[in-house]
Order: sequence, then C-alpha cells, then structure tokens
Amino acid sequence: MKVIFGGVRGSGPVTGAQYAVYGGETTSVLVLGDSGERIVIDAGTGLNNLLPHLGDSTDPLVMLLTHYHLDHVMGLPAFKPLYQRERSIKIVGKIPASGRPDTWQALTTLMDEPYWPVSLKDAGSMLVTCNVSARDGSWLGDINREFLGVGQLEVRVCPVAHPGGCLAWRIDEPATGSSVVFATDMEWSAASAEQRKDFQSFCSKPKPVSTLIMDGHFSGDELTPRTGWGHSTLKEVAAVGVEVGASQIGVTHHAPENDDETLGERSTRLTALVRELGSDAKTFFARQGQELEITGAENPEDETHRNATAVLLMVAELHRMGYQRLRITPGMSPSGMYWRCGVTNVENIMADHGALVMDESADMATYSSGAGDRFFGWDDARGNSPQDLARKFVERFPVIARLGRGDDEDYALWYDDVVKLTQTGDLPYAYSDWSDDSQEGILPTVGGTSQLVMPPGGEGA
Ligand SMILES: [Zn+2]
Ligand SMILES: [Zn+2]
Repeated sequence: MKVIFGGVRGSGPVTGAQYAVYGGETTSVLVLGDSGERIVIDAGTGLNNLLPHLGDSTDPLVMLLTHYHLDHVMGLPAFKPLYQRERSIKIVGKIPASGRPDTWQALTTLMDEPYWPVSLKDAGSMLVTCNVSARDGSWLGDINREFLGVGQLEVRVCPVAHPGGCLAWRIDEPATGSSVVFATDMEWSAASAEQRKDFQSFCSKPKPVSTLIMDGHFSGDELTPRTGWGHSTLKEVAAVGVEVGASQIGVTHHAPENDDETLGERSTRLTALVRELGSDAKTFFARQGQELEITGAENPEDETHRNATAVLLMVAELHRMGYQRLRITPGMSPSGMYWRCGVTNVENIMADHGALVMDESADMATYSSGAGDRFFGWDDARGNSPQDLARKFVERFPVIARLGRGDDEDYALWYDDVVKLTQTGDLPYAYSDWSDDSQEGILPTVGGTSQLVMPPGGEGA
C-alpha cells in the first residue's frame, strides 16, 4: 500500500519559493492499494495533483472526507472525474447528531449557485454519497457495518475532537499486514478521556497501525493562545504515535505561515521527541508530491524463515570456503515454537543418521530462531550477508571450523538441495521433540509437503 500526498497544507493554500519543499496546496491524499484500489482522502486544493494516479474514467473512485471545512473540500468543484460520465464515485462524509446536513446536502451547498455554476447532481459522473455519524462513527444506513470494503482494503472511521466534528480514517490491507491512520484536524488537548481512548483503540485494532499521519499544525509554544482552534502539537503527535506503537509517524496540516525552513526544523524536532520517548519509529513531515510506502509489521513466521535461511546460507558459504566437513542438525524445539540448528563437524554426527549429533556439549554452535537475528548470540550480525556470517563463524568458532575443514562432496551436494528447498518456503528438520512424524531415513520439512532423502551418515561411533 502506498500514500501519495497531493496537498498537506492546512487552513488555506499558499504559494511562493519559500514553500517549494513542502508545497502550498491544502489537504488531499491518495491511498493506493496493492491490487489497484484508489481511495482519496479529502478534496483540498491538492486534489488535482492526484489526477495522474486516478486511472481512466472507467476506474471507480472512493473519496473519504474528514469534514467540510473549506481547506478540505475546495478542490472538489473543479475535480475532473466528477464530470466523467463513466466514472463511478462514492463519497463518504460525516453527518452531525442533528442529521443535517448530510454528505449530499453539504456538498450540494458547495457546488451550486451562487458559489459554482454546475450543481453536483448535474456534474455527470455516477455519484453516490454515504454518511458516517460524527457522534459515534457508525455507518448510517448500515448500523452493524464494521468497515467498508474497497477491493482488498478495509476502511474504518473514528470521530475526533475538532470544531463542528471531524473524522479520522484508517485503511488496512490485510494481505500485506499494512495499515494507515489519517487523522487531520484533530485537537488532542480538547479530546475527552473517552475520545482519547477511542482513538487509541482505533489505532490498535484490528492490529497496531503501521503508519500514523496526524495533525501537527502547531508547535507546543503556539498552542496555548489557540486552544479551541481544532489542532494538535508536535509533542502530541509524538506521544500518540509512540503510545500506539506506529512504525512510521508523520505530521500533516502545516500552517500557512510556516515556510520550508520552519517545517524542516520542526521535522528534526519531531524525530527528537519520538526518540526521547524511546521509539525508533521513522518520522516525517508530509510533503506535497511525496509517495510513502506503507509496510506492515513482519509476520513472525516470515521472520523465522528469513533468519533460518541466513544460517543455512552461511553454512553453504562455509562449504564453498572448504569447510565441507561441517554439518547441520536442524530440528524443532520441544515446544514446537522454535527452529533450532546446530553446526558441528562430521565426526560428531551419528553414523546411522546423518543429521543427529553424538554429543551436544562438544564442539557445536547452536542457533535457535528464538534469538531472531542475534545469530549464535552475536550482537553485530544483523543484516549480514552469508559471506560476512561465514567469516565471523570461522573467527569466533575456530575449533569447530578447524574440525570441519576438508572435503565432503556428497554432503555438500545434499546440502545444496536443502538450500533450494528452504528457498521455496520450507525449513528442514531432522528431528522433532514435539511430534513423532520424523521418520528414519527421511528428512521431512515444516509443512510436510516436500521431503528430502537423508544426508550420508556421519563418522560418529
Ligand atoms: Zn483543516
Ligand atoms: Zn477543520
């Protein structure tokens, strides 16, 4: 999933050389799903910058509005897709407790005489509007709806504190585990305890949000005289972002009086604030034209597989370096939760089972997936190449390496097949303390679909 920023300014558009970096157009962003879904959030003057990403006139669009303040809808009347006859557009907006105006009425007021010559109903596209309650975030007309499905994406909503009410939007892409919350025009200091709790749980469910993009219109010193204006401070963005565990924390709705230099300084401050709170989240000040990749937290199984593969490739590299008498003893921990792999020399391997160790306490290095990328307890091996790991192994386990030096072509050939199998997504195990499906003579793999012939026997007595 990707977010493209068409406009990031709050209150009103600005222009001039001093705004060249962050841009002067008001709020409008596009969320692009991996399967081609297109969701626009807000229709400020930056809306037209998104046109090149909106496909042709037969591609459907969904537009989510946070609220109807002019800086968030000003780009709508001149938005070309509204006038395309084959274009289907769904606009979702808020509706106050009183019920009026609803999304259709609010936008009809904006797009009709005397403010605009073409009325919304005559624009031409196949347009439907949909209402969300600004009081409790329920989808009107479908009170039990938990989220709106757009292709593979799930859209959720949460009302936030802002004069007249405002909605924060959350988009999840379950296929990639990525998610983004876009919360502009939110006054954190004016939110009730309940609203804060609601927003935090909105950022945490169905799983912790990967990217939070939040209103940081003010710096801390500016806020006091501007209480009630409907915006938050940098410090609040940092605190909320760290609290909800976002891996990217971004600021949007930049004040018109803040030029590139000011925003650059604040961006540095945001990073410092987040670090002070003990988080290593990536931070950013949204820039017009920026294309931000939203990636999900890594799935634990993928992480296990990635680290296990690194260990297996390290041994392949050791074989290439002339240590072919080094063998692996892969297996599952008694709990069945961790993949373990000992590396030892062929003399410490049973003669009747080419992947079981004679003596676990003798000359063996053991990796457990529970250690993540701290291979063999090393703190400095994160992201290392197989070559780097192999070099460290020889340095740090000189005895095991010396005993493993020499040729064993049969084993090295067998080992190449293990590596190939691993690269298709499996992990080898030669024993399993937690189940009895490991048959003698066969090296099954996790998942059980592919099987491998056992390696030649060891030289242990
Ligand atoms: Zn605004
Ligand atoms: Zn507003």
